[in-house]
Amino acid sequence: MDSQSFSYLFAVMLIASLGVKLWLSTRQLKHVAMHRNTVPEQFAQKIPLEAHQKAADYTMAKTRLKMVMIVVSAAVLVGFTLLGGLQALSHYLIGIIGAGITYQIALIAAVALISGVIDLPFDYYKQFTLEEKFGFNKMSPVLFFSDLIKTSLIGALIGLPLVWVTLTLMEKAGALWWLYAWLIWCGFQVFMLGFYQSLIAPLFNKFTPLEDDRLRTRIENLMKRVGFASKGLFVMDGSRRSAHGNAYFSGFGSAKRIVFFDTLLSRLAPNEIEAVLAHELGHFKLNHVIKRIALIFMLSLGFLALLGYLKNQVWFYQGLGVMPILDFNNASNNNAMALILFMFVLPVFTFLLSPLTSIGSRKHEFEADRFAAQHSNSQDLISALVKLYEDNASTLTPDPLHSAFYDSHPPASIRVARLLTQ
Ligand SMILES: [Zn+2]
Repeated sequence: MDSQSFSYLFAVMLIASLGVKLWLSTRQLKHVAMHRNTVPEQFAQKIPLEAHQKAADYTMAKTRLKMVMIVVSAAVLVGFTLLGGLQALSHYLIGIIGAGITYQIALIAAVALISGVIDLPFDYYKQFTLEEKFGFNKMSPVLFFSDLIKTSLIGALIGLPLVWVTLTLMEKAGALWWLYAWLIWCGFQVFMLGFYQSLIAPLFNKFTPLEDDRLRTRIENLMKRVGFASKGLFVMDGSRRSAHGNAYFSGFGSAKRIVFFDTLLSRLAPNEIEAVLAHELGHFKLNHVIKRIALIFMLSLGFLALLGYLKNQVWFYQGLGVMPILDFNNASNNNAMALILFMFVLPVFTFLLSPLTSIGSRKHEFEADRFAAQHSNSQDLISALVKLYEDNASTLTPDPLHSAFYDSHPPASIRVARLLTQ
């Protein structure tokens, strides 16, 4: 491959993925608008027209914002790569710091900072204009910025050592550095899965043991029935930030905790909460969680091996608007740039494959629904789903193609139709 061909290939893939993304968004806008004035027959008795229209308006507002963000991030990507932004930034930093690992870490930190600053107005607008307009925002600007500062500090505290380890391996561990980096990365992921809940989550939310005795007994019975050991049931004050509700597990083995958002508990009846939890337990009992982690580990091994090859190819840098350091003794200074370029361009080459991951996750959702129907009650799960769709203003009428690219869950109409037969 020569660098010019790679530039063309990158440009073609970027235009193709940009075109497909915008096309999917306009399909979504049209589809939702077309169905705005009638609640689908399946839900006609359960969801009022007003709520259905709110969901349509909310979905369309989010889709329009996403279209702007898609265009902006494509422009930023071109600015960083083909238009020479990364090259200029690297040149500037090497001028003041000099080559070496400090320069490389500074380059990665600077790119993360610039990307974060570009995203900030969009995040702020989404929270305080869009979510606010539809009644979902519960945050004050003070909380928004204190979250931002905390997230950045934690990101730096965890991210910088990881970056340092990766860059050191790239420089010193020889041709198989990517294998060692992968092992470290997997170890880090497993550590975070085990300790996120006790180390990081409490910095953002309060967790209190679930006190409702009737609900607790109900859930404990369900866990006994399906053979699930847990170290406790907790309620999280999700309502501090958002009116959207959820439930999740964290941890490993018998130290697993189940966490409910207070917003979920306040809206669903105990039998509905049980059904939702049965669905989540289904993901666990049917090994979906392990399978997903294994898939992520395998893909990341493949990607790291690819990076191991690309980082030694001059066309990879030049094709993306960067002049690598060609002097053999100094070539390890290219490593940070290789990481950055890889992170930037990988999504451009993989976006068109995203329906493949949706297919897998949908299969798992159907299986978890079936598990919930067997061990709890399908009617309860249906009524919980209907309430959650209504409360979250999720559209019941997504465009099928848009959904295939972006949604991990099957559309509500298909899920409910299947549950009715179980
Ligand atoms: Zn699920």
